[in-house]
Amino acid sequence: MAMVDSIPDCESCGACCAYSWEWPAFIGDWDGDGIMEHLKEDGRMRCNGNRCAALMGTLGDSVFCSVYEHRPLVCREFTAGSDACRTVRAHLGLED
Ligand code: SF4
Ligand code: SF4
Repeated sequence: MAMVDSIPDCESCGACCAYSWEWPAFIGDWDGDGIMEHLKEDGRMRCNGNRCAALMGTLGDSVFCSVYEHRPLVCREFTAGSDACRTVRAHLGLED
Protein backbone atom coordinates (compact mmCIF):
# COMPACT_ATOMS: atom_id res chain seq x y z
CA MET A 1 0.00 0.00 0.00
CA ALA A 2 1.33 3.45 -0.86
CA MET A 3 2.15 5.79 2.01
CA VAL A 4 -0.46 8.29 0.88
CA ASP A 5 -3.14 5.67 1.59
CA SER A 6 -2.14 5.23 5.21
CA ILE A 7 -3.80 7.36 7.87
CA PRO A 8 -1.56 10.31 8.70
CA ASP A 9 -0.28 10.86 12.22
CA CYS A 10 -1.87 13.98 13.71
CA GLU A 11 0.97 14.47 16.18
CA SER A 12 3.39 15.03 13.32
CA CYS A 13 0.97 17.11 11.23
CA GLY A 14 -1.27 19.88 12.60
CA ALA A 15 -2.39 21.07 9.17
CA CYS A 16 -6.10 21.31 10.01
CA CYS A 17 -5.22 23.56 12.97
CA ALA A 18 -3.42 26.01 10.68
CA TYR A 19 -5.57 26.01 7.58
CA SER A 20 -8.01 28.86 8.18
CA TRP A 21 -8.68 31.29 11.01
CA GLU A 22 -12.39 30.81 10.32
CA TRP A 23 -12.31 27.09 10.85
CA PRO A 24 -12.06 26.47 14.64
CA ALA A 25 -15.41 28.11 15.41
CA PHE A 26 -17.73 27.28 18.28
CA ILE A 27 -21.05 25.72 17.30
CA GLY A 28 -24.41 26.73 18.73
CA ASP A 29 -24.41 28.43 22.11
CA TRP A 30 -21.25 26.71 23.35
CA ASP A 31 -18.81 29.44 24.40
CA GLY A 32 -15.59 27.49 24.66
CA ASP A 33 -16.15 26.44 28.24
CA GLY A 34 -12.86 25.34 29.78
CA ILE A 35 -10.70 27.15 27.23
CA MET A 36 -8.62 30.05 28.54
CA GLU A 37 -9.95 33.45 27.50
CA HIS A 38 -6.79 34.55 25.73
CA LEU A 39 -7.18 31.61 23.34
CA LYS A 40 -10.73 32.59 22.33
CA GLU A 41 -12.06 35.39 20.15
CA ASP A 42 -15.54 36.16 18.81
CA GLY A 43 -17.03 32.70 19.12
CA ARG A 44 -14.04 30.77 17.89
CA MET A 45 -10.46 29.97 18.74
CA ARG A 46 -8.07 32.91 18.47
CA CYS A 47 -5.73 32.47 15.54
CA ASN A 48 -2.39 33.93 14.59
CA GLY A 49 -2.85 34.26 10.86
CA ASN A 50 -4.48 30.97 10.01
CA ARG A 51 -2.89 29.09 12.88
CA CYS A 52 -4.95 28.34 15.96
CA ALA A 53 -3.34 29.89 19.02
CA ALA A 54 -3.80 26.64 20.93
CA LEU A 55 -1.60 24.67 18.53
CA MET A 56 1.83 24.09 20.02
CA GLY A 57 4.95 22.82 18.28
CA THR A 58 6.18 22.75 14.70
CA LEU A 59 3.78 22.08 11.84
CA GLY A 60 4.56 18.92 9.94
CA ASP A 61 6.97 17.78 12.62
CA SER A 62 5.67 17.62 16.18
CA VAL A 63 2.50 19.34 17.40
CA PHE A 64 -0.14 19.15 20.07
CA CYS A 65 -3.34 20.93 21.02
CA SER A 66 -2.94 22.77 24.31
CA VAL A 67 -6.70 22.66 24.92
CA TYR A 68 -7.23 19.10 23.73
CA GLU A 69 -9.63 18.12 26.53
CA HIS A 70 -11.83 21.13 25.76
CA ARG A 71 -11.32 21.53 22.01
CA PRO A 72 -14.32 22.58 19.89
CA LEU A 73 -16.64 20.06 18.30
CA VAL A 74 -15.39 20.90 14.83
CA CYS A 75 -11.93 19.78 15.92
CA ARG A 76 -13.25 16.57 17.42
CA GLU A 77 -15.13 15.66 14.26
CA PHE A 78 -12.27 16.30 11.83
CA THR A 79 -11.07 12.86 10.79
CA ALA A 80 -7.50 11.93 10.00
CA GLY A 81 -7.31 10.39 6.56
CA SER A 82 -10.56 11.99 5.34
CA ASP A 83 -10.74 13.89 2.07
CA ALA A 84 -10.73 17.16 4.03
CA CYS A 85 -7.65 16.03 5.93
CA ARG A 86 -5.88 15.20 2.67
CA THR A 87 -6.84 18.58 1.24
CA VAL A 88 -5.46 20.66 4.11
CA ARG A 89 -2.30 18.55 4.29
CA ALA A 90 -1.72 19.08 0.58
CA HIS A 91 -2.41 22.81 0.99
CA LEU A 92 0.41 23.06 3.51
CA GLY A 93 2.70 20.85 1.45
CA LEU A 94 2.57 17.88 3.80
CA GLU A 95 1.10 15.60 1.16
CA ASP A 96 1.01 15.50 -2.64
S1 SF4 B 1 -4.83 17.45 8.81
FE1 SF4 B 1 -5.39 15.32 9.21
S2 SF4 B 1 -3.51 14.30 9.90
FE2 SF4 B 1 -3.22 16.51 10.06
S3 SF4 B 1 -3.71 16.98 12.20
FE3 SF4 B 1 -5.55 17.30 10.95
S4 SF4 B 1 -6.67 15.36 11.03
FE4 SF4 B 1 -4.58 14.97 11.74
S1 SF4 C 1 -8.42 23.91 19.35
FE1 SF4 C 1 -6.80 22.39 19.20
S2 SF4 C 1 -7.57 20.86 17.73
FE2 SF4 C 1 -8.79 22.75 17.49
S3 SF4 C 1 -7.80 23.96 15.86
FE3 SF4 C 1 -6.96 24.63 17.82
S4 SF4 C 1 -5.11 23.43 18.14
FE4 SF4 C 1 -6.35 22.40 16.58
